[in-house]
Parts: sequence; structure tokens; C-alpha cells
Amino acid sequence: MTNSANLEIRDVKIVTATGTSPVIDCALKTFIGNIKIVDGKIVSISGERSASKDVFEGAGMLAIPGFVDPHTHIPFVGDRVKEFLMRSNGAKYAEILKAGGGIYSTVDSVRKSSVDDLVMSGLKHVKWFLKSGVTAIECKSGYGLDFENEIKQLEAIKLISENTPQKIVPTFLGAHAIPSMGEKAYIDELKRMLDFVKEKNLAQFVDIFCDEGAFSVEGASEYVNYARSKGFKVRVHADELSSNGFAGIASDLGAVSVDHLAMCSKAEIESMAQNKTVAVLLPLTSFYLKNAFAPARMMLNEGVPIALGSDFNPGSNTFYSPFLNIHLAVNYLGMTPAEAFIAHTLNAAYVIGLGQECGTIEVGKRADIVIIDVPDINYIPYMPTNELVKAVFVNGVEVFENRDNFSWQN
Ligand SMILES: [Zn+2]
Repeated sequence: MTNSANLEIRDVKIVTATGTSPVIDCALKTFIGNIKIVDGKIVSISGERSASKDVFEGAGMLAIPGFVDPHTHIPFVGDRVKEFLMRSNGAKYAEILKAGGGIYSTVDSVRKSSVDDLVMSGLKHVKWFLKSGVTAIECKSGYGLDFENEIKQLEAIKLISENTPQKIVPTFLGAHAIPSMGEKAYIDELKRMLDFVKEKNLAQFVDIFCDEGAFSVEGASEYVNYARSKGFKVRVHADELSSNGFAGIASDLGAVSVDHLAMCSKAEIESMAQNKTVAVLLPLTSFYLKNAFAPARMMLNEGVPIALGSDFNPGSNTFYSPFLNIHLAVNYLGMTPAEAFIAHTLNAAYVIGLGQECGTIEVGKRADIVIIDVPDINYIPYMPTNELVKAVFVNGVEVFENRDNFSWQN
């Protein structure tokens, strides 16, 4: 493995979207040639080889932009395997909660953990993503649900970010669930946390879960307005379990993205299209929970850009593969391979504020590049395994290599 941020990735078939903003059409660019990298940035893409001494021989393999995961619940500790078994035996969420499962069991584990515990667990998880070709990830708080433990999670995210090659983007999700003090009192508490997060610059994004059993539309709207007035960028969890109109409201209130959207209505989709809000779809969670999939085709037809995320968390989805995610997007959401590919690269990068830096292979962008051993991107949904990843470059440095032959062709 080469260890330099100055190198040439030679003889690859580059497949990428272009630009810095989310796109709806599926125009991908393909170019066979060499990528020259200086100080971690792409400086040229050319048919000519340069005199570079450090070389990665691509041998005709595909070079794609590193995948971006705009929605995970890292960091957390512990598992919820009992809950998984209860659900697979037909238990409803209310029964699971009664038996001590659900989000509050993770909240309990996180409250009992130190920052170090969270960092260790988080670093392990982001490494799994790295080996799957994910070079930028969003991480959220949301399992503390009080001042001390929410801030503890954000501090853990900062340390994870300093100890992994990947770009990590933190989101404050103190509004993940309502603790026993009730919604009104907790929103006041959340505003106090937001002021602190702002002062210490622990996150630029704020998220809230507005759905059945979580925050009300009124409470969530008040909170989103407050967060916006403080200069935060807003993301929301909406329309996962029921349709309450909040996806449309949040997009009118200036949310960058609305996430989940399995139960989304046409009126909400129209608001999102009007406001250019990105729909972050999480088909791995729908699949894991045997729930409905989001109406992706309707969104695309109405002009809503789509990003794909994993929603990786211990309760409702433990899959983290962008390959499997793209498979589901193609097979269950009706997206084309190109649409799903763009949704997991450029559009996802834009959602977490990285559209200028990564998400495409273009001169001037960071060299976050993944080499996969397939003839074209249709093979990503066709054979959705992380084993296709042969090498991962972050900031031009090769951080993972897999020499096993997993090619379909030979
Ligand atoms: Zn989520």
C-alpha cells in the first residue's frame, strides 16, 4: 500500500457525477485514464500518465467517489438482539418497550458509558464503513437525552473524527425521544443544550424525530425555528411510522433534508420539491423492520433530489453496506443504478455540507476514491457485497486494500 497523499491512480475507469449540488437526473461521466493527486487533492484527470513515483495500478478497475453516509446513529454501545428476536416473533414496539427494549435501552447503556467507551465503539463501527468504501459519515448524538450525556456523545464524535481517516460530520439529535419530564420541559432543556453546542462549536447540524410516539408537529416546529434562529442547519426524521405533514413543514422552515419518508404524502413531496429539500431515504431500515419503502419514484418525478443513508443503529438497522443499500434502492424503491449511485455520493455529500469537498471525482476535490472490481456500476446492485472494494483512498492516502479476488468476471 502506498502511504503518500501525492500519487497517481493509474489505468482506471472513472465513474462519477459532477458538481457540488444535488442532482435529480442521472448523468454520470465515464472516463478511462489516470488520476493525479497532490497533497490529497485531485489535480488532474488525464489520458496521459504523469511522472509520479507513487503509483496505484488500477488495472482497468472502476474508480468511484468514496461513498458518503449522511445518516447514522454512531456512536452507541450495546446491542438489542433480544428486541430483534421479539420483533421477528411478531412483537409490537409497545411490547418491546414494556420488556425493557427500544431506544431507552440504548439510552441506558450510553448513559452508563464513558466518553472512551463511546469512542472505542464508534471507531470500530466507522472502520466497518471504511472497508465498505464509505469515506465520509454523519454521526449523531441522541442516546443521552439529557445535557451531560448528549454533550458526552458529541465529544465522543469529535474524538472519533480525530482518530479515523474518514471525514466525520456531527449532528446534534438531543430531540431523538422525549424523556419523562415531558415534551414542553424537554424542549426548554434542548434549547439550553443548543446554546452550549453553538458556543463550543460541537455541531452545525440539528436533527429532531417528529413522529408517532416522538415529538409533536407543534413542538418540533418550535424547536426547528429556534435552531434556525441560532444559525444551525436542520435535518429531521419524519414520516417513518406515520404521516403527520411535518416533512412538508420542515422543508418550508428551511430544513436541508428530511429523512426516512416511508409514509410521505404527495403534498409533502411537492413542498420538498419547491424548497429544494433533499429526501434522505433509508431503505435498509425499511428492509430490516419489514416496513414500507419510501415513494422514491414519485419524489424523483416531482423533482426532489434523493440521498441514501444507512440509518445504522442498534435497534432498527444493523446493516451498513452502501452496496446493499443501493441494491434495495434499485430493487425496492425503483431507482436506476445511476440514481442510487449519485444518491450515495454527490447528493449525500451535499446533505452533510461536503458538496464542495467530495462526492465526485473532479479536479479540485479531495481524493476520496474507491476502487471496485466490477465492469460498471450496474454490478453494485447486482452483486451487493463489500468484498468488491479493492482499495480505499481518503485525502489521497490509501487507507484500505483488499487483494482477494472477488470479481464476477474471472
Ligand atoms: Zn435515524
